[in-house]
Amino acid sequence: MSELVSIVVPVFNEEENLEELHRRVAAVFADADHAIEFVFVDDGSHDRSVEIIRDLARQDPRVHGVLLSRNFGHEAAIEAGMRDARGDAAIVMDADLQDSPEALPELVVRWREGTDVAYVVRKDRKEGVIQRAAFSAFYRLAHRTMSIDLPRDAGPFCLVSRPALDAINAMGERGRYFPGLRAFAGFRQEAVEVERKARHAGATKYSFIGRSMGAFNAIFSFSKIPLRLASLAGFISAGLALLGAAWVVIGGLTSDQNAPGWVSLMAVVLLLSGVQLVTIGIVGEYLGKVYDEVRNRPTFIVREHVGGSEFDGDDSGRDGTPGRTETRGGR
Ligand code: UDP
Ligand code: MG
Repeated sequence: MSELVSIVVPVFNEEENLEELHRRVAAVFADADHAIEFVFVDDGSHDRSVEIIRDLARQDPRVHGVLLSRNFGHEAAIEAGMRDARGDAAIVMDADLQDSPEALPELVVRWREGTDVAYVVRKDRKEGVIQRAAFSAFYRLAHRTMSIDLPRDAGPFCLVSRPALDAINAMGERGRYFPGLRAFAGFRQEAVEVERKARHAGATKYSFIGRSMGAFNAIFSFSKIPLRLASLAGFISAGLALLGAAWVVIGGLTSDQNAPGWVSLMAVVLLLSGVQLVTIGIVGEYLGKVYDEVRNRPTFIVREHVGGSEFDGDDSGRDGTPGRTETRGGR
């Protein structure tokens, strides 16, 4: 049987882009010697995206829709699609055609040469100066603080082989940052340079604040340095408090200008506030680790599966019956 490549596409209000995306992806693989399937994950769109996914699924048996119960965010939508993908490899790409379909065959070529993770590096960004500076600052910070080697300018757009996909899917953490998990997974990774296009239609779904939250999530998921900074601040202030206390005590012994009780009061306040910061920092270290694990909520909830009849009939049903994507979470 020929190999199957899954195309995983997170969709949030992309009515103007889906048909074009489907057409162009189908076209680039028209003569390919492997099969493809589309996994469109609708992330709670309130435009016609769901209708379009249903239409596409009716016309093309390779199209499968995973409809989430509400908007769970880009990361969750990617995760839902990755868990649903049945291919020997999966490609993750945005619905807005910023990730150019014409680059996909190159990713498949790399995979066949033995690469497990072929991630796309944006050759030149089409964004404004301020946004580019913000991205650049993020990658610099990420490089300094994260425990993994996060490739610069690599978004979600990539191909992952089945072994790498299984490894990423096995990661149970909830605050997911896909490019980070992908780097963490290891295997044979390779960068592929592709120009990042402007959006085909519609507007970006991210506000400046939304994007900043994403950046914080990425850093906090892969770094304990913020917590360490809290402890460090505590230790430094405890040290300073000790010096301050010594100064106050000596001053108290050598001068008679002080109000009664001031010396001992200041010494205690300075010392204790420093010690408290140290303690909070240390508690924070542990709390951060526990918090990572303890929230056992699913990262997404599937409302319905659409189409995909061509690949039905094996392990987990795709239409209504609980499939892989419903059994998210619990260990
Ligand atoms: N997206 C999603 N859920 C969201 C926001 C975005 O599934 O809550 C999808 C969106 O439809 C697109 C991709 O994620 O396919 C990237 O979104 P967008 O183009 O807005 O981000 P940008 O390219 O500006 O970083
Ligand atoms: Mg986009």
